[in-house]
Amino acid sequence: MKVTLSFDNGPTETTREVLDVLAQREIRASFFVVGTQLAEPGMRRYTERAAEEGHWIGNHTLTHTVQFGDSADPGLPHREIGSAQDLIGDLAHRDKLFRPFGGGGILDRRLLSSPAIDYLQNHAYTCVLWNCIPHDWDRPDDWVETCLTDIATRPWSLVVIHDLPTGAMTHLPRFLDALESLGAEVAQDFPESCVPMRNGVVTGSLDHLTA
Ligand SMILES: [Zn+2]
Repeated sequence: MKVTLSFDNGPTETTREVLDVLAQREIRASFFVVGTQLAEPGMRRYTERAAEEGHWIGNHTLTHTVQFGDSADPGLPHREIGSAQDLIGDLAHRDKLFRPFGGGGILDRRLLSSPAIDYLQNHAYTCVLWNCIPHDWDRPDDWVETCLTDIATRPWSLVVIHDLPTGAMTHLPRFLDALESLGAEVAQDFPESCVPMRNGVVTGSLDHLTA
């Protein structure tokens, strides 16, 4: 059993706590940051530290507010994807990792749009989705059990959790202990099935993610 960890919606003060836990265990993960959050005073240093410690930094939109499928604004991809990438700057992974705003982690036709896909292709992004959403944001004290049950159902899980101050990350050490007891391999790379576009080349199906 293989597990890849990703932390979304930061950076926040909680990012530091998460980085400490990962460093103690020499685990590397990815952080999909929100542009406006990265621009908050004092926050960039956490993402800088994450990059220095070998974590991968990805783009999780500028504002994390609008799903591409819900907007007819032609400027949305440039603003939500491009402006966030500019803010991330040289902290970004060289493959330009991008994860769309999932509106609760749902992979449906609102996730992307034709203009968003064109933008991602034209600018050589790598689109990183997920297959395991343990709902740490609304179940901060029992996401670990949910997640452990879910990862047992597939050979390789790409888990989305959040470096947000919900209290959920206080359970991260317990989660990592459980993974170790299960003999799970914690990998940094992503399962192919979660990466439908690599460096601008569509490698999987995007049909179910656009209207
Ligand atoms: Zn998110």
